[in-house]
Amino acid sequence: MEGDVRRSLDAFLAAHGSELVALRRDLHAHPEPGNAEHRTTRLLAERLTAAGLDPVVLPAGTGLLVDITAAKTPYPERTVVALRADLDALPMDDEKDVPYRSTVPGACHACGHDVHTTVLLGAGLFLAEQASAGLLPGPVRLIFQPDEEGSTGALDVIAAGGLESVGRIFAVHCDPRLDVGQLGIRSGAITAACDHIKVSVGGSGGHTARPHLTADVVYALGKIVTELPAALSRRVDPRSGLSLVWGRISAGSAPNAIPDNGIAEGTVRCLDAEAWAAAPALVDELVRSVAGAYGATVELSYLRNVPPTVNEAASATMFAAAAESVLGPDGVTHTQQSLGGEDFAWYLDSVPGALARLGTRTPGGAESDLHQPSFDVDERAIGVGVSVMVATALTALWHSAAAPEPPSRGHLAGAAEGER
Ligand SMILES: [Zn+2]
Ligand SMILES: [Zn+2]
Repeated sequence: MEGDVRRSLDAFLAAHGSELVALRRDLHAHPEPGNAEHRTTRLLAERLTAAGLDPVVLPAGTGLLVDITAAKTPYPERTVVALRADLDALPMDDEKDVPYRSTVPGACHACGHDVHTTVLLGAGLFLAEQASAGLLPGPVRLIFQPDEEGSTGALDVIAAGGLESVGRIFAVHCDPRLDVGQLGIRSGAITAACDHIKVSVGGSGGHTARPHLTADVVYALGKIVTELPAALSRRVDPRSGLSLVWGRISAGSAPNAIPDNGIAEGTVRCLDAEAWAAAPALVDELVRSVAGAYGATVELSYLRNVPPTVNEAASATMFAAAAESVLGPDGVTHTQQSLGGEDFAWYLDSVPGALARLGTRTPGGAESDLHQPSFDVDERAIGVGVSVMVATALTALWHSAAAPEPPSRGHLAGAAEGER
């Protein structure tokens, strides 16, 4: 980052650092679950309006979009750099003993979305100052989305036009296994897909003495639960990490009666976006062919969650370079792909961008994990996050001013339809 911007950012953080920590603690004490982030949305709208910005609340009433630009003219195609935070809390009790502990029973910011929200607000306020001074090199959109945990927020933002004119999008997620002052980044997939499937098998049922006069549902189910994972392992590229594991199987009530229905339920996890997109049709084809051999009818219910989040290589490089410019070379580290899901994946299906992990552990401090009722962060991560998001937005803006943007990937667009 240039020296002048760096000095302005340091001055901004010195002036606003305690306001940001206070906001994070306020959000932490008043967590709101997905699609109920009304208070959070109101607080943000008030603060952004006070800074001279024009926040637009999403149609459903929670979450907001804010454009920051020096000139009020339509944006040329794909020049906006978007920064995204998620607002929602988890449905669990807060078990910490801190002054800012959740005041809402059964709701807790255990995934750090209060930190993401605060970081994005801080970055937005600074970029708005730069814009007023005529120093912002292009348009920036802040996306404060609802309901990440329920996986509906990103799709609602996209449906509301949140990606219009966006050329690149970036976000950070808290990582309690990474020290504060560090950013973890990787090119390619950084989170995984996890879908739920339920196979219902039916037949006429009858006496176990005469299986040839029935469709043997139990036998057909047994074949499905063993054949399906085996067939998938030969029909899908092993590098995609696709795995089907059954968690429940149920049929019948008597040892000498073939039942007329049975079910098997399980999860399909996948590290690769292409294989994830193809999985429902393939699973359906295989289930039908196995059940058909035994004369049983079959119905597949395939419940989509989110695809893997696939970081675009150039965006990941920008993230790393920007973070290095504010954190130093030791502040950027390579991170692994996790088997967790993140609905930021939907944005990256439409436009290039990247998700990075923001270190929140006090160096030498205790290990903790996301979604634990005791989850907390080293709040120095807020200032780090603001600096990294600002530097990344500026890096991407300078880049897009210098070179045409790559085309969007969009190869999962069809898969997204009708799966809400
Ligand atoms: Zn979470
Ligand atoms: Zn999260």
